[in-house]
Amino acid sequence: MRPFAYSRASSSEDAVRRLAMSDGAKLMAGGTTLYDLMKIGAEAPSSVIDINALHDLSFIEADRDKGLRLGALARMSDVAAEPAIVEGYPAISQSLWLAASQQLRNMASLGGNLLQRTRCAYFRTGAPYACNKREPGTGCSAVGGIDRGHALFGASQNCSAVYPGDFAIALVAFDAQLDVLGPNGNRTLPVEGLYRDPGGTPEQDTTIAADEIITAIRVPVTPFSRRSTYLKIRDRASYAFALVSAAVALDLEDGIVRQARIALGGVATRPWRARSAEAALVGRHLDRQTALDAGGIAFADARPGEHNGFKIELGRQTVADALMTAAERI
Ligand code: SF4
Repeated sequence: MRPFAYSRASSSEDAVRRLAMSDGAKLMAGGTTLYDLMKIGAEAPSSVIDINALHDLSFIEADRDKGLRLGALARMSDVAAEPAIVEGYPAISQSLWLAASQQLRNMASLGGNLLQRTRCAYFRTGAPYACNKREPGTGCSAVGGIDRGHALFGASQNCSAVYPGDFAIALVAFDAQLDVLGPNGNRTLPVEGLYRDPGGTPEQDTTIAADEIITAIRVPVTPFSRRSTYLKIRDRASYAFALVSAAVALDLEDGIVRQARIALGGVATRPWRARSAEAALVGRHLDRQTALDAGGIAFADARPGEHNGFKIELGRQTVADALMTAAERI
């Protein structure tokens, strides 16, 4: 690990100031992803700015009329266990419970979770493997290599790494927004707009500037948040990243779909909304066949590589199972 400077921010504004002053600085909240990446050499910040003392960013607010407002430093396990979220936004609670391990969930912040980097094994191993995300312009070892865990959607010839998180998938299904603070003040950013497709610059994961900090996450009130679920399929039952996941939410009347939300994880370079599948459900009676049809539409434009084609049928079934589970909620 390379030497780095360490300091503590006294406020969000102070954190932004410190980020702006130091080229290559990184914020540190729970530390569960940053230190990991520093140990494997995938991150080498000149300076680490500790924001754990910013207790005003640890709030969890659930308002019947205004929706959820979650501080970026709220811990994953606290948010997952919050009764108003368990009952009112089950997909969000489940997406947090099904991520990482209990120890990590106790430490990890919501903001850090959103900003986690890919689990592509070539990215994490580094040399001798080429990786455009780790060393721009060096190539991509997943091309012609093992791409079992790689993306069906959003990939470019430069990178097909999957966005690995769970929480963001549920947030995208609910059209959640971020409060972001930078040198010019606050701005609002849809969670869906946080992530970049790799294109020709796969080293840039997000649209957050180097001197900006996420301060809060806002989830609007919707008619479908209670009837939602997050289903995650993985190689082992715990402490594993998704092969395929689906966050779904339904507004039903007498079994007929009035509105639907479907967001996919584990299959795309960013959280992926399946809007064609959502539209196809509207006005239809939800049964197993309708749900399977929607799952098929969700994966109709998938572009598999050599080893990840199995995710298409797995994904279709995952979407269908999630829809049927959500439909049973009251
Ligand atoms: Fe690197 Fe992306 Fe290729 Fe993985 S898929 S080796 S992260 S460039």
